[in-house]
Amino acid sequence: MNIYQEFFENMNDEEWEFFAIDFLNFLGYSILQSPSRGADGGLDGLVENNGIKYLVSCKHFIQSNKSVGTSLENNIIDRIYEHDAKGFIGFYSTLASSALLARFNEFKTRGFDIKYYDKDRISDFLPCLPSYILQKYGLPNNICFVMNVNNSQYQPLKCMQCGIDILEDSRINISRVQISINEQNELEFIYGCKTCLPFEEIGWLEIEEALHQDRLIDWNNYIDSQLLNYTPSLNFYQNKNQFDSRIQQRMFPSNWGQHPLSLVE
Ligand SMILES: [Zn+2]
Repeated sequence: MNIYQEFFENMNDEEWEFFAIDFLNFLGYSILQSPSRGADGGLDGLVENNGIKYLVSCKHFIQSNKSVGTSLENNIIDRIYEHDAKGFIGFYSTLASSALLARFNEFKTRGFDIKYYDKDRISDFLPCLPSYILQKYGLPNNICFVMNVNNSQYQPLKCMQCGIDILEDSRINISRVQISINEQNELEFIYGCKTCLPFEEIGWLEIEEALHQDRLIDWNNYIDSQLLNYTPSLNFYQNKNQFDSRIQQRMFPSNWGQHPLSLVE
């Protein structure tokens, strides 16, 4: 089962059309016309890329799980001409039928620029989409964070004060990692619930931020710079190694939030 099933299901037809436009815009298409309410003559939006104008056609059959066939996605060429476009983009929350794909190929040989994004292809892109778009369309909270290992392999990262796993979904936003100076004037590496950690620190990072590779790299560079000024405590590197390896289990893909223009065909 597609882990985003619920995300697709929770959108109504109108939201699906707006999601399509936000999605295509993120991929690099300029928006010429947004979806409108009511009868739209088979037009759910017009977008443009590299000088080519595309008619967008959305089909949202997730509830019935029916694939999009030629009887429901019809008059494609007429609709392209009607809107003075040169291309067509099908945006489907289920799959396209093989008959429809065959028709797409036929149109391509006739010089039309035909693209489609079905449930599987859209799902591949979802981890790259910025969270503000996903949240707008109700991405369930339980997949806001990723899990890169199986349950059986997973090792908790326990708050160094109270022992609660700070990598649990509900704890990530209320935990942090920090470096502090101890009584011997040595550098300590500490992580845990914000409420558990000592207030005095010379640098800290939210766990939510640490899940992003670029932020974690900045943080580690900052620590290196502080190690020029302070001697690390006896447990410093043990704690740091534990943190650096276990945080990987929940880190976002390195392409998260980047513009996947290169993925547009
Ligand atoms: Zn704690």
